[in-house]
Parts: sequence; structure tokens; C-alpha cells
Amino acid sequence: MRYVEEFRDPKAARALIARIAEATDAIGATREEPVRIMEICGGHTHAIFRYGLDKLVHEGIEFIHGPGCPVCVLPMARVDECVEIAEKPGVIFTTFGDAMRVPGTKGSLMQAKARGADVRMVYSPLDALELSRRNPDREVVFFGLGFETTTPSTALTLLQAAREQIPNFSIFCNHITVPPPLKALLDDPWMMLDGFVGPGHVSMVIGVHPYDFIARDYGKPIVVAGFEPLDLLQSVLMVLEQIREGRAEVKNQYARVVPEHGNPVSLAAIEEVYEPRPSFEWRGLGEIDASGLRIRPAFAAWDAEEKFGIGYAAGPRHVEEPEGCACGQVMTGRIKPTACPRFGNGCSPETPLGALMVSSEGACAAYWQYGGARVAAE
Ligand code: SF4
Repeated sequence: MRYVEEFRDPKAARALIARIAEATDAIGATREEPVRIMEICGGHTHAIFRYGLDKLVHEGIEFIHGPGCPVCVLPMARVDECVEIAEKPGVIFTTFGDAMRVPGTKGSLMQAKARGADVRMVYSPLDALELSRRNPDREVVFFGLGFETTTPSTALTLLQAAREQIPNFSIFCNHITVPPPLKALLDDPWMMLDGFVGPGHVSMVIGVHPYDFIARDYGKPIVVAGFEPLDLLQSVLMVLEQIREGRAEVKNQYARVVPEHGNPVSLAAIEEVYEPRPSFEWRGLGEIDASGLRIRPAFAAWDAEEKFGIGYAAGPRHVEEPEGCACGQVMTGRIKPTACPRFGNGCSPETPLGALMVSSEGACAAYWQYGGARVAAE
């Protein structure tokens, strides 16, 4: 546990909590009129609940859970398209485990597998590429899903497939980018956000400057944060201190991991393989301009959308959420998961109605895992 314990030190945590309380009082925030801080990343949401930070900090701080869980923001139409590809004859459909149980209108990939589709869980897109080498008579499709954190690995895998001219491998690209939905949230007058805790892993790739517009154009502070309790407490304090002093800046609490300008190798791979889509649909947020990536025409031979005539290549497709599902409202911070009428009432990790209950980074899964099941039973 070396290198981790120092970020979980109770004495240091108590000192930070006291400083947070002092800053919150100085701002004048109360439970009735809280400071609203959005933690963008689902990994941060889980860390906040795992360590009980929401209970430990001053009651005048409200954590708003952001859209930084790629599985959660995937609309049902994209899940349906995955199932459609997976059920085509001769296809081996590969995906990370998180996406296996996300429900679409035709069930999940797991249910498609039970119906006979060849759906396989992989740990890396390179595993999928290896499957295509071993199965030259089959079409192997990798479900490319995620933010800038995972986009480079699919880009580098596609470049490898292109170098080897592997014809039976393709990527169903659903990669998305963090800054555009933040702009959409900031433009939403309902949100009333006071500051942000920025995503640590995404920022390892893109650096901190893509968030400059948040401070410059919207006057809101943002602090890129790590995932240990002291990281999060210190980041909250850094946001509060800016608010207290009337500043709005982009700060990097996670400098031990996040380079200011990101990772140039990853950024070059993304640039070579992908281009922005005109728009992309997000669960709960709708279509957002330039928020999704598509494979450049030069690599169309490895683009599952082109190969199967499915997805945005066939035109945008929208599917309504199931009746009573409040995923969209939770995704946009309008309500907490426990306020969803289906939380524990038809939606649980065993029988998920929405992706937020399935994903390891989902807000509903966090509430359920760290006490929500008890709330639902009460
Ligand atoms: S409890 Fe289920 S239906 Fe309600 S918001 Fe969460 S995932 Fe969606």
C-alpha cells in the first residue's frame, strides 16, 4: 500500500475537512443554499461515497454527479446497434465487461449472448485484434467506448490492424470527449454550478488546458483531481478557496499524474485516427455538437459503421428511455439517484433498468453500493 496510504491519512483528512468547513462558512454556504460542486468523473463519484466524503464535509457543500461515466451516457439506441451487429452471422462482438449488462430495447449484450450471439468480454482492444488473427473466417468487432482515457488504445489498435492489413477486424466507435458536455451543462440555466472537480484520467491524456473555457468564459473554478480521499478533499478546498477569493482558474491537484499539456503520443494517435462527428447523442443531454469521434475515411476498412451500414453512418437514431426511468435527470444532476421512482423499485444491480445502475462508475450503482439499498428498503 506504499504510495497510497499517504493519500488516506486520517489526520491529514481531518485537517482538510476543518479547512473546508472554514472556507464554506466564509462563503456563507448552508444546507439550504449550498455550494454546488460537480465531480465530473464517475470514478470520483464512487470515491466520494466509498470514503463517505459527502458526509464528512460541511453540510453546505452539495456534490452534483456529472456525466463522466461513458457507459452511463450511452443512449439506448447505441446499445441496440451493438446488439444488432453482435447478432449478425459470423460476427464475434467484443467489449469491456461494463457494457455487457447495459439494457437496450432488445435487451443487453449479455442477453444477446444468451440468445446465441458470439459476444466476448475482453480486457483490451488488442485482445480483440488477436481474436481476429486467430479467426480469419469471422468478423471481429470491438466496441470502442469511452472518453479520452480509452480513445488512444483503440486508435493504436486500429493503426496496428492497418499496418498488418487485417481485413476481418473493425471498431464500432462510440468514443466521446469531455469538454463539449461541460459546455452544454454550463449553458443550462437550471444547473447553477459553482465549480468543478475535474477528471483525473481523462486529463492524463488531454492535459488541463481544454478546460480553460470554464474559467475564462463562465467564471467557474475547476480543479483536476486524483482519486484518493485526500486528493478529493484537497481539490474541494482548492475550488472553495477560489470561490472565496473571487477567482476562477484551472488548477491541477493531480500533477503527480496529469501533465499540463497531456500525453503527446496519445494525442497524436487520436488525431491520426479520429475526427469529430458533427454531433453525438448523450443520454440525458441529447445531441451535443462535436462531442463524439468517428473514424477518419482513410481507415474506413476498419470502421464497423461503414462495414455494417449501422450507427451514425446510417443516420442518427433515437430511442426513448423506458417508462419511469430517470437516468437523464440523474445524469444532469437534477435529482439524486434515490429520488428516481425506480431506484430499488424495479431497478437494482441485479435487474438494472438504466446504465447508471450497471456501470462501475454509475451514480446509481454508487448510491446502491454505499448505502442506497438500505434507503430504498426504508
Ligand atoms: S435508479 Fe435505475 S432507472 Fe432510476 S436513474 Fe438510476 S439507473 Fe436509471
